[in-house]
Amino acid sequence: MTINQAQHHSIGHIQIHNVFKSYGAHTALQDISLDIPAGSVTVIIGPSGSGKSTLLRTINHLERVDGGFIQIDGEFIGYRQQGDKLYELKERDILKQRKSVGYVFQNFNLFPHLNVLQNIIEAPLAHKKYSKEQAISKANQLLSLVGLREKADAWPKQLSGGQQQRVAIARALALDPKVILFDEPTSALDPELVGEVLNVIKNLAQLGKTMVVVTHEIGFAREVADHVVFMDQGRIIEQGNTKDLLEFPKEERTKNFLARVL
Ligand code: ADP
Repeated sequence: MTINQAQHHSIGHIQIHNVFKSYGAHTALQDISLDIPAGSVTVIIGPSGSGKSTLLRTINHLERVDGGFIQIDGEFIGYRQQGDKLYELKERDILKQRKSVGYVFQNFNLFPHLNVLQNIIEAPLAHKKYSKEQAISKANQLLSLVGLREKADAWPKQLSGGQQQRVAIARALALDPKVILFDEPTSALDPELVGEVLNVIKNLAQLGKTMVVVTHEIGFAREVADHVVFMDQGRIIEQGNTKDLLEFPKEERTKNFLARVL
């Protein structure tokens, strides 16, 4: 294997090391460690308030950690190392680093004053990643990927929730991130719109990008995930390959949770 190939295979390796996070007296994350291989799909499940979303937000430094650290392909997220100390990056450098981590929010968060195409090309143009022509061409490819090529000129409010979320997914891909994080991407949708969004995410899994998905959709996890992580009260209670964790959970809390959601 050449060095280039070796690098290619290691794109998007997330390492979470002993991460702690509190809000005042409340501990939201308690000593979380997780190794997420490049190109894998990891689904995080657990009851409401267990810290899933907080954990996801730490992976692109939308949330500052109180202890521990996170690396993607060996690079510290939100910090730089000097000697044996970590110093928080400047806002500008945090934004630069975030380009390699796409994020899909529960509530889509499209810019309401921009049309679909403008939503997608905004970041690539702001970061001077592509020329305008290249950005538009790439945006149209991404719209085809999410099945919305004909909606390039539509305004967000003219779209259904499922369509808006598919645009948000295309937008998250526009900077060609190493990693895509999905924070309950279907929980704000009417039930009949959930399937179309899950299908788009399922297709992305075949692109070989590292994906981490917080969701209550166990059927989706079973079909798409390589790895499932169960969290409760700020801790990882159990994790494993999808079939083992969903079919043969070892911990009582995992069994009880699965019995309630399945
Ligand atoms: P989940 O995604 O599993 O529902 P969260 O990560 O959203 O859980 O929340 C974990 C815990 O941290 C909850 O108890 C929640 O109330 C608390 N929390 C999350 N965000 C904040 C915040 N910005 N300020 C204070 N408490 C927060």
